[in-house]
Amino acid sequence: MSTCQLESIRVRLASYSLSYQYNDDRWRFRCCELALEALEQGNYGVGAVLIDKDQTLLVEASNQVFSPQFSSSAHAEMRLLDKFEEEFPRYACRDELTLITSLEPCPMCCCRILAAGIGCVVYLSRDNDGGMMSRCNTLPAAWKNLSQLIVVKEFDPAHELSVLAHDIAAAQQEALRNKLIETIRT
Ligand SMILES: [Zn+2]
Repeated sequence: MSTCQLESIRVRLASYSLSYQYNDDRWRFRCCELALEALEQGNYGVGAVLIDKDQTLLVEASNQVFSPQFSSSAHAEMRLLDKFEEEFPRYACRDELTLITSLEPCPMCCCRILAAGIGCVVYLSRDNDGGMMSRCNTLPAAWKNLSQLIVVKEFDPAHELSVLAHDIAAAQQEALRNKLIETIRT
């Protein structure tokens, strides 16, 4: 990705005016900030937050697959749920939690989210190549059953933050896919 491209994403994010038409707009914005941070550090551009029913932030995380060191499970949602379960070991109302993520969760994260009992998932940008959350009806039976317990929402794809989330995820996608193959096969 050129410096120019990255700078343009930075400017768009910085100039985005927080809209309080929806209370959780700031958390969608935060997901994009986290995603950009991840991208700038050489990771996949994905960020996620976990909020409770009062819109209070419990934990946040970004993708760290390549940096600081290679970790195949360090997707934003996996790190988010690791943090949550470590910091809130006896949390009682998981069905009241909403996980917001900048990109549609992959198969690994989708199943982790289902197993963790999160009540609702909102993703800003659909991932046609790697996303699983919109295809829960194609999961094996046990996982498909579990998916009946969760509400899955794709945020308005035309919204400025959804477009930004998409552009952040797409910015280095090809290079990062090649980097993964190089890492696991050399
Ligand atoms: Zn994932």
